[in-house]
Amino acid sequence: MAVQQLTILGATGSIGLSTLDVVSRHPDQFQVFALSAHTNVDKLAELCGQFQPKVAVVADVDGQKRLLSILAEQNISDIEVLYGHDALCAIASHSDVDIVMAAIVGAAGLLPNLAAANAGKRVLLANKESLVMSGELFMAAVKESGSVLLPIDSEHNAIFQCLPHSLNSAKAAADIQLSSNHLGIHQILLTASGGPFRKFSYSQLEKVTPAQAVAHPNWSMGQKISVDSATLMNKGLEFIEACWLFGCKADDIQVVVHPESVIHSMVSYTDGSVIAQLGNPDMRTPIAYGMAWPERIDSGVKPLNLFEVAQLNFEAPDLERFPCLALAKQAFVAGGAAPAILNAANEVAVDAFLNERIAFTDIPKIVDGTLQKLGSQRADGIDAVLSADQSARKIAQSFI
Ligand code: NAD
Ligand code: MG
Repeated sequence: MAVQQLTILGATGSIGLSTLDVVSRHPDQFQVFALSAHTNVDKLAELCGQFQPKVAVVADVDGQKRLLSILAEQNISDIEVLYGHDALCAIASHSDVDIVMAAIVGAAGLLPNLAAANAGKRVLLANKESLVMSGELFMAAVKESGSVLLPIDSEHNAIFQCLPHSLNSAKAAADIQLSSNHLGIHQILLTASGGPFRKFSYSQLEKVTPAQAVAHPNWSMGQKISVDSATLMNKGLEFIEACWLFGCKADDIQVVVHPESVIHSMVSYTDGSVIAQLGNPDMRTPIAYGMAWPERIDSGVKPLNLFEVAQLNFEAPDLERFPCLALAKQAFVAGGAAPAILNAANEVAVDAFLNERIAFTDIPKIVDGTLQKLGSQRADGIDAVLSADQSARKIAQSFI
């Protein structure tokens, strides 16, 4: 097979760096075409030296100047350095690129991811927010262009692996329609670790700090998704993500809290079988799976030792202490722009919590308040989605 050319959107983040770790294990199979970062120019410069992409993209003109000067000090002159939003879309859709790792955090990933989907790339989707905001449009773009969409979120990657073999070996996620097919599937069991505050009372939750919230018990991740995991909004966003990826209705999915994070999700069949995907909690497994699909390659993840794991526990999610999960389900059922509004309000609230402007327990209140104030809006085009996103940000800010 020809060497696959890779663009990594969000290369300096947790997923971006794990992707580069997998790339470095298979230099004969994968080459880096382009890397992007937002403001972490020093890290991007280091990665440019190591992986020698053709293009590097940063947030703004100051970042561009800084990156060019660091590269010049290292006598690197053959990397094109661009900045801004159009440049992100350009590296996501460039004709030399085969695979795009979509690992920008938040709504900022939407348009570059959509550009990759429209250009028919193999899209490795880590950025769940883009699918939450515009699931219908995104899946339509994938189908129309013939893009291969593979889920990187560990749960969705697990579900994809547990679906009937005939389905996932022949087609990628965009062709799967669980609701309309007779595949003998009873339910998707979406697992959740429960986060660092699984056993906290509501009064304890009122006092938790950002440092406590980003210290996830099992996974090492970026700050925003770590807070989302602590509020269970991450599971809410993943619930919506699964509905779009696999063509399910809300009732087709059951969230199961599984504190060990060894089972990454399951599919339950009508004959009583439940198929699970297990592994150590390390994102390099789903990343390597997406990069090599339908083959498998070494990811650097150590084999699972079940004797060390010893026990697997399961419990139902508590929607009273963690209302974000219920809010996300409601937003999906409401449809239209409601999931985009939920996502935008959550991004604003999480940022305010990380900056110690609001309490942890204010996050669901701000999301709920924003959803109630904006009500149902249409999302019949990308402009409508982006406008709902902007209105929601303003309202969420006003609550803060
Ligand atoms: P992170 O914060 O570690 O990294 C985010 C990356 O996006 C960085 O490279 C940053 O420079 C870039 N970025 C941030 N804001 C940007 C902006 N406005 N415009 C352009 N680029 C921007 O985040 P992460 O943990 O790697 O997560 C990335 C995405 O993957 C998120 O959507 C997250 O939900 C998803 N995800 C992450 C994990 C994980 O284990 N970290 C697991 C599943 C899904
Ligand atoms: Mg996940």
